[in-house]
Amino acid sequence: MHTVTPQEALQLVHEADALSRGAIAELQKERLTELVAHARTHSAFYREKYAGLPENPSLAALPPVGKQELTARMQDWITDPDFSEEALVAFIRDMGTLGHLFMDKYSVSTTSGTTGEPLRMLRDSRHVNINAALLQDRLYNSPLLKNFPGILDKRAKFASVLATGGHHAAFTAFEKRRAALEAEGITGTMELLSIGEPVGEMVARLNAFQPEIITGYPSVLRVLAGEQQEGRLKIVPKVILCSAEQLTDETRLLIEDRFSCPVGNVFCSTEAGEVSILCDHGRMHLNSDWIIVEPIDRDGNPVPPGTMSEAVLVTNLMNAVQPIIRYRVDDCVILHEAPCECGLPFPYVDILGRTDDMPAFKGKSGTVRLSPIVFLNAVCDIAGISIFQFIQLGPETLTMRVQYLEDGDREAVNREIIQEVRKQLIGNGLENVVFSIEEAEPRRALRGKKMKAYIKDFSE
Ligand SMILES: [Zn+2]
Repeated sequence: MHTVTPQEALQLVHEADALSRGAIAELQKERLTELVAHARTHSAFYREKYAGLPENPSLAALPPVGKQELTARMQDWITDPDFSEEALVAFIRDMGTLGHLFMDKYSVSTTSGTTGEPLRMLRDSRHVNINAALLQDRLYNSPLLKNFPGILDKRAKFASVLATGGHHAAFTAFEKRRAALEAEGITGTMELLSIGEPVGEMVARLNAFQPEIITGYPSVLRVLAGEQQEGRLKIVPKVILCSAEQLTDETRLLIEDRFSCPVGNVFCSTEAGEVSILCDHGRMHLNSDWIIVEPIDRDGNPVPPGTMSEAVLVTNLMNAVQPIIRYRVDDCVILHEAPCECGLPFPYVDILGRTDDMPAFKGKSGTVRLSPIVFLNAVCDIAGISIFQFIQLGPETLTMRVQYLEDGDREAVNREIIQEVRKQLIGNGLENVVFSIEEAEPRRALRGKKMKAYIKDFSE
């Protein structure tokens, strides 16, 4: 597949903003044909999967794929013949590689575990450049934020609340930006906060730093909005950018209100990159020139626009090294085909999928509220876990359901889990919380197969 330079990516993305729906459909088709041909030629997994298909199959003819079957066949999935899964695992375990490229060409990210099934993802320069162009064109330059030119000002004071300590996409991007600024002699403009940090510490550091731009997970920003309202946090940001998790209108308006500044939002995933971006009319437009989203029902049949889906099939037209083609994600969405007043030609979506419950514990000095990501990220890089789910059974009781990979040493995995989770609990003044692990299937919602990675159940 041909590469795309940063300049070409910006041009391609910008040009698509003015296309008709029909022209975007054509573009999708063209890019899909190229991707499928590439996957069939260079990925043993897809070659096998598509063996019986004609030379140029339609999207609907391609069999859907799932995370478990793909991660189990990582070595066959990757299209680069020099790829070694073992080398990737070693790269991820070594924190010294952070911000570096794997095999000198791929950015690596691991999922923040919202689905409880860890995934390692390579992004080639094509994916990275197009993603950056999508953000630049449809977020930073959008009418929603363009009255705040500080967003592109390299000297703006920029704070991020991220999952640190792993190869998470946002953390890697933050470190890259910091390194690029330092190379230009700009220092002291970026403040990194970890979601694993106690809220009190975060508040103190933000008060001292006084950021102009804050980025982070909606659930963490919601916690900070509460701190601002109670008067402990005293900051005057110019813009707040949410990403990675679902942002409900309620949370967005609440954050906007508490901080009196516009809130931008990007829905991204490790597999698909920047899936959708908030416009100035409050709608999350799909970047459908580069990502195909097909809402489906529980049996895999397409559901019409305006109807809630049980899951979606996602196709990422950017990434050639680790092709994501009709990849099933158990998020429920509503796709809207109606035109939006903002003028963008892309359909928009309501993403209803990933509302994990919010952890709240009884600590020694009152209630401690945390983002579920604190726990999900603590464990998602631990090798040997197949699927996990946290279940909070009471104000001082937390359990984790785990299913292990076949060849792992379960006791070693458990020791590592306990160490990582205890670290988060102690860091937040929750030494009193009892944590346990059980080997069990995660609980699933009654309808369909949707699973939440953090749930609260105080009934036991
Ligand atoms: Zn719009």
